[in-house]
Amino acid sequence: MAEADRLKIAVVGSGPAGFYAADALLRGAPSCAVDMFERLPVPFGLVRYGVAPDHQGIKRVQVAFERTAALPGFRFFGNVEVGRDLSVDELLHGYHAVLFATGAALDRRLDIPGEDLQGSYAATSFVGWYNGHPDFIAQTFSLAAERAVVVGMGNVALDVARVLLRDRDDLAKTDISDVALAALRESPVREVVLLGRRGPAQAAFDQGELEAIADLPGVGVEVDGDVSFADEADLPAAARKNLAYLARLKLQGNVGQPTRRLKLRFLASPVELMGAAGRVRALKIEDNRLVGAGPHIRAEPTGKVWELQTGLVIRSVGYRGAAIAGMPFEAKRNVIPSSAGRVTDLAGQPQPGLYTAGWIKRGPSGLIGTNKADSKETVDLMLRDLDALRGRVLTHDVADLLTARGVRVVGFADYRNIDAVERARGQARGKVRDKLTAVPDMLAAAFPKA
Ligand code: NAP
Repeated sequence: MAEADRLKIAVVGSGPAGFYAADALLRGAPSCAVDMFERLPVPFGLVRYGVAPDHQGIKRVQVAFERTAALPGFRFFGNVEVGRDLSVDELLHGYHAVLFATGAALDRRLDIPGEDLQGSYAATSFVGWYNGHPDFIAQTFSLAAERAVVVGMGNVALDVARVLLRDRDDLAKTDISDVALAALRESPVREVVLLGRRGPAQAAFDQGELEAIADLPGVGVEVDGDVSFADEADLPAAARKNLAYLARLKLQGNVGQPTRRLKLRFLASPVELMGAAGRVRALKIEDNRLVGAGPHIRAEPTGKVWELQTGLVIRSVGYRGAAIAGMPFEAKRNVIPSSAGRVTDLAGQPQPGLYTAGWIKRGPSGLIGTNKADSKETVDLMLRDLDALRGRVLTHDVADLLTARGVRVVGFADYRNIDAVERARGQARGKVRDKLTAVPDMLAAAFPKA
């Protein structure tokens, strides 16, 4: 096919949704070319920076993404930020279609007094820090507390709890950042309390993730307080599995002599972080009761308030997407508005040439694989729109624009240089990978001097 006849598509974001979309496009419409834009010099988004370092098995999905990157028609444009180096409008005039898969990188707040005391952190930053993300690596996290409280009952809360509790020598073999490992080695944390505002049947985590903590040597898992594990009609299978497992944990209590503990406390909401000399010293908590039924069951405060001494509070109450200059944004849900992936304005009017997939389309839910079906849904619509897309008039070549602007674009082959450096550094230190955590260091590795 003549180069001029190719359908040119830009994918913004190189996490799972971006790669699944690129794959579906290149396999579904071999006449198209996909340019993937990524703000950092390295790809893979949440697989590199969200998945916990001791979950290397999950990170292996990156092998599939590397296969996508090797498909004819694929190009990677790392170190290019849409909004800084390029505008949405410039992308729309350089590509027949632009798909946004920018994820949900921001944290959600609790909006309670004391949230900004030292010792109180968002899970999004804590996870970015232990994963060596350039945006978070220089932040200070003080882990000087025997008891940590993690607010939230999702899988991220369990990741954070597991990293706090896991044997430090085990973590040292992963790709955890050096600063995080050093802080964990110094930390006296012995107990992590997980705080859930609703009951055990509403816990958002997967049973296997809790079991993985219970299986850690020297770690005990307990269910605190007086809660019911009664099975209810119409419960989703995952909730039923959680209930049965939690009831078993409650019954058996702690086996052996654990040196570190995870305590799950349900029906409890933080209402204030109390401080001394600018640092968290305790959490004021209010007990809840459940009202309503089915999926709409919610927590209602009982008025019973108590205090829990702690010097470390991590809020893990979900992620939220960031608005992109030049793109419509639904502020309540923190997503790009769309009809199954075809971007609309806030009044529901389609925006020709614009598409979205992944967390920025549907919100931060599901596992990595959930994005495959989500991206396919969007790509199926793009394939149906092919004729209309071909009719769009392109006015410039974005690669030329970037060259003219002096942007140092990292291609996939350049990223492979970074990858090789990180693996070699890791091998020398008995780690799976020793990540570069500063963009200039990544660029130096990407473009080695001859
Ligand atoms: P999540 O699953 O939505 O869990 C958020 C938790 O925060 C829920 O327990 C929620 O309780 C609670 N919460 C929200 N607002 C709150 C408030 N104001 N006060 C107290 N609690 C509050 O989100 P996530 O844990 O960030 O995970 C995001 C997605 O990534 C999920 O789909 C997750 O499964 C996935 N993930 C998977 C893995 C894995 O497979 N290993 C690892 C990490 C993440 P309510 O239910 O009451 O709202």
